[in-house]
Amino acid sequence: MNLPIIETPMYTTQLPMCGNEIRYRPFLVGEQKTLLIAQEGDDQQNKVEEIFRLVDICTDGVDVRSLHQTDLEYLFIKLRIVSVGETSDVGMECNNCGQENQVSIEFEKYDFIPPEKEVNKIQKLTDTISVELRLPSLIELSKINKIYNIKSDDDESLENPEVMFAILNKMIDKIINGDEVITRDDFTSEELDKFLEGMTIDMLAGILEYVQHQPKMVVPCEFKCSHCEHDNKMLIEGLENFFV
Ligand SMILES: [Zn+2]
Repeated sequence: MNLPIIETPMYTTQLPMCGNEIRYRPFLVGEQKTLLIAQEGDDQQNKVEEIFRLVDICTDGVDVRSLHQTDLEYLFIKLRIVSVGETSDVGMECNNCGQENQVSIEFEKYDFIPPEKEVNKIQKLTDTISVELRLPSLIELSKINKIYNIKSDDDESLENPEVMFAILNKMIDKIINGDEVITRDDFTSEELDKFLEGMTIDMLAGILEYVQHQPKMVVPCEFKCSHCEHDNKMLIEGLENFFV
């Protein structure tokens, strides 16, 4: 017997960073299952890969791997809303007493937090040499985290010089030397490392500022603690926390 085919609805949205309009559909039960299995595991890179795979199969007209992280997070929230609903009940710890409270998170209330300051993607190193920066993709970052065994939410990781250099290496898109523009195709990763080692601490700090000052997608979460009545105001951020 031929069973009826379930039509999947399509939606459109405009990505906040690149401005492109894209079409998307909810993910299906079978697709969600593989993501949930990945979320259960400890392999951070596998989780990120699974999120990419899911976003990729549910969207049209977008190269998921080259998306700005903020666009990817936005898209993931949109997908989540049409696939599994606008709200999620999760246990959140009170900031004051630590008691866990059941809180309903409303994903439709997502917001953008602009960076504290604008950092130009072209950084001048000397009078004649500048670099043009790019943001490392989530896939690149998760690979670095895996190599150096870092948890994704570890903000201290940039203090480890090896990690810092690995990230910096992914951030240089072009080197501008006077009138000459040298792109990534023109140099190897090892040559770039040598170039980076010749920089001053100030120059490195300027480059890292670029990655540290990007707009963020957040979902606000407010609740009064049932134990101590403290009014908690929190912001949920980070791709992996948008799937709860
Ligand atoms: Zn409390």
